[in-house]
Amino acid sequence: MRLVPRRWHNETWICSIRGHYIPAERAAALRDQDRPLGCDVGGRMRYSRCLRCDLWMLGPAPAAGEEAYDVIPPLEQLDLPRRGKPLEDAILLRLIAIDRGVHAVLFGLLAIGLIFVELRLPAIRDWAQSLVDNLRSPVSETAQAGSHTFLTQKLEGLLHLESGEVTVLLSTAIAYAVVEGIEAVYLWKERRWAEYLTVVATVGFIPFEVYELMNKVTVLRVFALVANVAILAWLVWNKRLFGFHGGEAALQEGIDWATVLAAPTPPKVQGQVVARTATVSRSKGAQSDRTDQRDGRPEAPEPW
Ligand SMILES: [Zn+2]
Repeated sequence: MRLVPRRWHNETWICSIRGHYIPAERAAALRDQDRPLGCDVGGRMRYSRCLRCDLWMLGPAPAAGEEAYDVIPPLEQLDLPRRGKPLEDAILLRLIAIDRGVHAVLFGLLAIGLIFVELRLPAIRDWAQSLVDNLRSPVSETAQAGSHTFLTQKLEGLLHLESGEVTVLLSTAIAYAVVEGIEAVYLWKERRWAEYLTVVATVGFIPFEVYELMNKVTVLRVFALVANVAILAWLVWNKRLFGFHGGEAALQEGIDWATVLAAPTPPKVQGQVVARTATVSRSKGAQSDRTDQRDGRPEAPEPW
């Protein structure tokens, strides 16, 4: 089952947010060896390639004074974008970070509620007692007695609530809010220790989720358990934690740029570079036309 559309490309999506990465666009001159990155056509026009999404864009070569460098610097000196699996992994890691951020907020709200309960416990007991007294009045001896019994049981639970129990719940909620918050921030920053922390915290949380599920099965509880197990499996296997799957030494987060740049090249027809448009905006991520060379041949523009 596909979770994303067939023609979805993470690279295109990220380029639509961050803009394209086009080193050839700002070079004063292009050399023969720069052909995988860009080439001049028809005088002052230039095809330039985005190194993230492989889009070839046609636009004017930079005017005098607009160049960032005389020639494109060696790739090692460029802050090259991620693409392919490293980019996909980074996106998934950020989705997990967002999930942890949501958890941190929910536990934080729970902690605030428990602080309120802790501070107002005597008043809450008085309120619960008065409600229980009312429900036990002769009026309750009616057809609604069933629901009154249910309410009475819940309210008596509040009456017997001890300050120590609230303190334990409050401490647990604060601890989870802090841990999940740390996970969210440092997973977003792609710290490896945060991946280990997430795995350990998730393993610690799963027994409680299983216990809750055994008490009562709900869609939310099933989804939470499945999501956490999936996150756990993905982190341990894909990020090769605890030596799994070859360990950190086998972690391939680099990109083989020699292979990436081996193809494609600008579109050609009978040896001549084809100019598909006259102008291109140089604003971030904007273009008036484009030629996708992902498979080495011109394609219709992507729908996004
Ligand atoms: Zn791009």
